Amino acid sequence: MDPLSRLCTSCGLCCDGNLFTQVPLLADEVALLRRRGLPLLARGDRLPVVEQRCAALAGNCCTIYDERPQGCRGYRCMLHAALAADEVGLEEALAVVVQTQALLGALADALPPGHGAPLRRARVEARAGTLTASASAAVGAAARQIGRHFDREAGRVATTG
Ligand code: SF4
Ligand code: SF4
Repeated sequence: MDPLSRLCTSCGLCCDGNLFTQVPLLADEVALLRRRGLPLLARGDRLPVVEQRCAALAGNCCTIYDERPQGCRGYRCMLHAALAADEVGLEEALAVVVQTQALLGALADALPPGHGAPLRRARVEARAGTLTASASAAVGAAARQIGRHFDREAGRVATTG
């Protein structure tokens, strides 16, 4: 497996609901994904979207990789771009993923029991005004890591909801 694939199949953050909540679709992709049985989130008159955690994600792998939407094909996080440009090595990049997973695990531990991406669950708690101080600190740590290594906007949204 090439280094970029090694990285992404160890990560999955851009599909599991931690970085993003949904993937926009083009009209022809809606029909294709419906044929594949992927559940889509209806949005009234607007095109539906793929809600994350994506139902096509198995472990850290996309099960519809060759048919994934353009919104997925076009996305490269900062860590992926840095590895592609040889600005970081594979081992260093994998270590960043492990660190990030540890921070997200700490956040999950600070949240009430539940399923789904910790940062997504934390946004729900924050909107409800029920985020504890320890969970808020854990959100900050995870968001800084994501903003520094993966996606500045996703890191910012993680703390602002
Ligand atoms: S967040 Fe980056 S490294 Fe992780 S799966 Fe997505 S593109 Fe790959
Ligand atoms: S379709 Fe594949 S690449 Fe796109 S969000 Fe789902 S699992 Fe990730």
